[in-house]
Amino acid sequence: MLGLYVHVPFCSAICNYCNFNRGLFDADLKARYVEALIKEIERAGRAGRAGQAGGAGGVGRSAADTIFCGGGTPSLLEPDEIARIIAACESAFDIAVDREVTLEANPESVSEPRLAAYRRAGVNRVSFGVQSFREDELRRLSRLHSADRARAAFAEARAAGFDNISLDLMMWLPEQRVSEWLQSVDASIALGPDHLSLYMLEVYPNAPLKDDMARARWSQAPDEDVAAMYVAAMERLEEAGYAQYEISNAAKPGRRSRHNLKYWTDGEWLGFGCGAHSTRAGVRWKNISSTQEYIDRAGVGGELAVDVRRLTPDEQLGDALFTGLRVVDGIDVNAIQTRYGVDVWRRYGADLEPFLEAGCLRRTGSRLSLTRQGMLLAHEVMSVFV
Ligand code: SF4
Repeated sequence: MLGLYVHVPFCSAICNYCNFNRGLFDADLKARYVEALIKEIERAGRAGRAGQAGGAGGVGRSAADTIFCGGGTPSLLEPDEIARIIAACESAFDIAVDREVTLEANPESVSEPRLAAYRRAGVNRVSFGVQSFREDELRRLSRLHSADRARAAFAEARAAGFDNISLDLMMWLPEQRVSEWLQSVDASIALGPDHLSLYMLEVYPNAPLKDDMARARWSQAPDEDVAAMYVAAMERLEEAGYAQYEISNAAKPGRRSRHNLKYWTDGEWLGFGCGAHSTRAGVRWKNISSTQEYIDRAGVGGELAVDVRRLTPDEQLGDALFTGLRVVDGIDVNAIQTRYGVDVWRRYGADLEPFLEAGCLRRTGSRLSLTRQGMLLAHEVMSVFV
């Protein structure tokens, strides 16, 4: 089934490391953006019924089982706006009864009544951008919330009835050493979220954080410490009852992100909103990035997609292998043979062999997967396929 991604490009402040498609919150712009989003979703529904490419599918409504509101800061949208977006998805697509509907939220932008209202609107999973439970690290990242606010937001979400809550943490922060990182991991485990995403901070060349770091002489830990951060965190999570299921993600049983799994398991999804990406039936496209331009075009029924590309069979295969290795279960080479008619061992065996010998890759029956050691070198291993 399809996954539906809805992009919300507004934030209360711009974090010094951010490289996402986002801008400062403006109430008027936000209201017009929500109308544009709804128009785009409705249009996808109509295109699907008419059987047009790039729409919701062939004749009739396509089935979808996940909706993911990401950003930006989707929790800056009012609950009734989220309800309207979900309702638009429901009328354009056949949304499964056991759907997963995620809202990304920043801790400073929620309260228990607001979270309860999101739940009534149809959201059943909340993903909080916590990043760290240390005040000094949050300040260095110019985040608006405190560690206590993050804990309070988590408690408010539970009190509002959410039984599926994810936390995002970031490692390799300026001045962060292994023990400090593990404090955040332990603080997360102490709350008992259902899902955790652990990302590595990437300092982009033009990020204000890069200048902040130079001015304050902050440094990032050496590579061997980052490896230790990653391995120790995953081990602690496993001891606490979480199973790692993807390079950066771990979950309690039954709480894997069904939406994100579509990206890693050769699935299909439609993205709505400025800069949103879609992949369907071998075609990949991206919406125009500018929020204003997106609103203008959506308002007059104009073309929103830019950069539309039909993938060659080789590109589709490369993507399936590249992203498939991200999941802990890895790739089923027999399934790849059936779907793409390619014998993975024959085509890539010689390039994969050194990684198998080095203990970065594991071969179990027809499955090929990264070991934890291999996850630290994932990009090198995956480059075999692209
Ligand atoms: S809240 Fe997230 S999307 Fe918004 S500026 Fe910060 S990192 Fe970027």
